[in-house]
Amino acid sequence: MIGVILDGLSRIMNILSFGMKLHAEIMEVDEQKSAVKSSSSDSIEIAHYHLEGDSSNNLALNVLSNLIDLGVVDIFTYGSSHAERTNNIIRNFDTFKAKIFISIQENLQNPLLDHVMNKAGLSIDQIEKLMNEIDADIIRDLNLGDVRVIDQRPFHVRSIYPQLESKDQLHSDMDFMRAKNKRMKTEFENDILQLNAANKNRLMMFHSDPSPHVDVLGIGRGNNQSRYWEYMPNKHEQNALFVGQNNGIWQGNYQLAQTSGVLEFDADTAASNYNPAISESFGVSQVNARHLYKGMIHSQVIHNFPGIPGEVMNVRKANGDGYLIQVAYRLNGQNHVKTVHANQIVVGTGLSDAKNIFSQHGQFYREDFKTIVGDRSEEVYRLLVKGGYFHDSGRTTNKQPNLLDLNDLLKNSCEKDQISTIAKLIESVNAGRSLGSLLNQSDYKRLSTFDQKKGFTPIVDGNAFILSDKECSSLGEGRRIMVWGGGGTAAAATRRGLFLQDTPDIKMTPETYQHRKNDVIWIARNGFDTLRDGTLAVDAKSTLGQTGNLWPNCELVAIKSLANGKLQITIDRYRPAETSADPKTVIMRKIEGVELACIREREVVEVDQLVYSLGQENRGIEQIFDGIDISANTIDMVRDKEMNVPLYGTLKGHPDIQFHGAALTAGTLGAKSANIMEEVVTSENIPPDVGPGSMPLAWSTIRASHFSNSGVYYPSVNASIDYRALIDKHLQSWGITDPAVRSAFLDDIVQHRTDTRGGIPASSINMLLEKHDLKHLLTIDGAGMLKPLQIRSKL
Ligand SMILES: Cc1cc2nc3c(=O)[nH]c(=O)nc-3n(C[C@H](O)[C@H](O)[C@H](O)COP(=O)(O)OP(=O)(O)OC[C@H]3O[C@@H](n4cnc5c(N)ncnc54)[C@H](O)[C@@H]3O)c2cc1C
Repeated sequence: MIGVILDGLSRIMNILSFGMKLHAEIMEVDEQKSAVKSSSSDSIEIAHYHLEGDSSNNLALNVLSNLIDLGVVDIFTYGSSHAERTNNIIRNFDTFKAKIFISIQENLQNPLLDHVMNKAGLSIDQIEKLMNEIDADIIRDLNLGDVRVIDQRPFHVRSIYPQLESKDQLHSDMDFMRAKNKRMKTEFENDILQLNAANKNRLMMFHSDPSPHVDVLGIGRGNNQSRYWEYMPNKHEQNALFVGQNNGIWQGNYQLAQTSGVLEFDADTAASNYNPAISESFGVSQVNARHLYKGMIHSQVIHNFPGIPGEVMNVRKANGDGYLIQVAYRLNGQNHVKTVHANQIVVGTGLSDAKNIFSQHGQFYREDFKTIVGDRSEEVYRLLVKGGYFHDSGRTTNKQPNLLDLNDLLKNSCEKDQISTIAKLIESVNAGRSLGSLLNQSDYKRLSTFDQKKGFTPIVDGNAFILSDKECSSLGEGRRIMVWGGGGTAAAATRRGLFLQDTPDIKMTPETYQHRKNDVIWIARNGFDTLRDGTLAVDAKSTLGQTGNLWPNCELVAIKSLANGKLQITIDRYRPAETSADPKTVIMRKIEGVELACIREREVVEVDQLVYSLGQENRGIEQIFDGIDISANTIDMVRDKEMNVPLYGTLKGHPDIQFHGAALTAGTLGAKSANIMEEVVTSENIPPDVGPGSMPLAWSTIRASHFSNSGVYYPSVNASIDYRALIDKHLQSWGITDPAVRSAFLDDIVQHRTDTRGGIPASSINMLLEKHDLKHLLTIDGAGMLKPLQIRSKL
């Protein structure tokens, strides 16, 4: 017994002396901190808690605070007030303690943990023992609401990722996914394990909470949400939760439309920067989506991204303030549904599958009206809903079209021939098929299922075709593919269809075309005018054009499944008519925006696979909003009044629901926001390959919105893609006080943004710094980030 008491006393003495020691060290670091800050941005900065080891509980509290502060221990809880969050932890105390151990175990390689252990002269066992002693009561003293965390990390991710992949690895498909089953080898695998463990722990806490409450609930945990969190100032004070079924779409080998310069942001805050050198060392500047994915995962780990796996099923207004969000999730093999209360919602749900032209349930897409009546499509659609032809959701009411009735309804909005086309459209939708009655539903179901023997899906949506590696195994080599659609995704499907992979070293030319693995015919209804001028898309178009496999102005008439396993596709091809053509055979048709006299030729083609990609929709998120009006008419873009720039979308009457990125600009819902962002592309002279809903623009808008909300400056700005007004604010804060100097410099910067596809090159920035005599104040970071020469504290 005495032995036990002595043991206990000696343990307490040990702990106390450790506490005093650690206290002294932290004080020492505190004293050095201002010097460290002004001397180097790369220095390790240490948490600023003072340790007083007057009792083991107090000591445990202080050690824990430091571990949290350094990001070594990740705590997560819910509740809008400090008391609520504290009670939450106390109620789930065992889970909380388990989580501390897991965090420490996960951080064994973390230099910050090493740093604390070395400084304190404490082993990992001693730290764990101390943590085991903690008493639920100390949680009340833990500054849960405002744990101060220094964002600056002791490393730059740019210097980590180049070591991850050898050229061979880069070229081998999905090696990193397969590696999940192997021994942990790379930083990435380490990241994935850490992230999954953290998400699972968070999910367990969430599960054990009877009435979860958060300030911010994010729907989606892909790239845009990850950036949203990364750029958010004081993120560790946020009581937030991001729910998503997965980590977003970028998991396969896919060449993004953009080059590296426009996808780069501060190395300090945006640790998710892949290294541009990886792509560039292969002689191309296009970024491989997989690198971005790795960077995103790393960012989520080091920024403690508060994600949980799950799906948001329903969002409705709460009786008092805020919203009630129903989340479905799976834990330990069981399905669960729980309702979370949130004050604010951030939507980053991205794009859905390609538009399904085999419309199975009498549902069709409003873009069909766009094709027929152009800008007035929304107005026409509203009138048809009013006339009882459609429900607001896009579903048919089964009312048969009556031309006289339609004439009355639409006479001020449409031409006569447009009205008869609309009548045909309604008739066809009512019959449960899309325009042209392409395929019966049982064939569609069979043909859109993956065929193990063939190694591909005979009829597949373009997104699935290019984003997953499943469709591109060597088993499926030697097939004939028809790609249907005139946009960027169809261009990527063409590329991938020809070579079965999409790695950066394949530049499409008539020479490389000789080495194709498959044949591709690329067809489009109106031409390829929705194709932006991206290098990859333009190369694909010109190569297919030169080889006679680019067919504009085609309508699909029917698809038949043949006994030999092939698809027989009937197409109407429209060709400009010779002047001598018989007028009876001439049909007027819009080709690349111009009305032309055409003749129709029917062709029958046999192919092995049809890839359809006829426009991008958002993920059908309208359906999850319950009693909240969400439509193209109710989405408004919020602007920063002073900078006069768009920031994010919101719903009329619901300023606490925010939309970002692709979810904001896609499909009919996002048409208005897409137009606004298209104006930004022009007014800001945004480099080529950057569309309204693309990542670079989504990220610069998110950055502007956090800045607008908090006034917190970023360590650097992207000269090619950040809003000019945001850069101006930063230049001012970095000591360039003369507005005339800033304005002249920015005029030049913006003008040079389109010099290359990757934006303004570092050489031009250098030249402009020289020209405007700013070299003593500004410098370049990475490919084209501007930052002040003197590092100023960002805290
Ligand atoms: C085929 C294709 C190619 C593209 N190429 C490019 C390109 O080259 N360059 C470019 O800038 N952009 C490109 N885009 C657009 C691209 O999708 C976006 O720019 C970017 O990936 C969007 O990121 P995100 O985080 O918004 O969406 P995603 O990465 O798609 O993530 C969406 C997230 O929302 C979640 N989610 C959806 N619904 C729910 C729900 N109900 N509940 C919970 N979670 C939900 C998903 O699980 C996921 O976590 C492409 C898109 C596609 C489809």
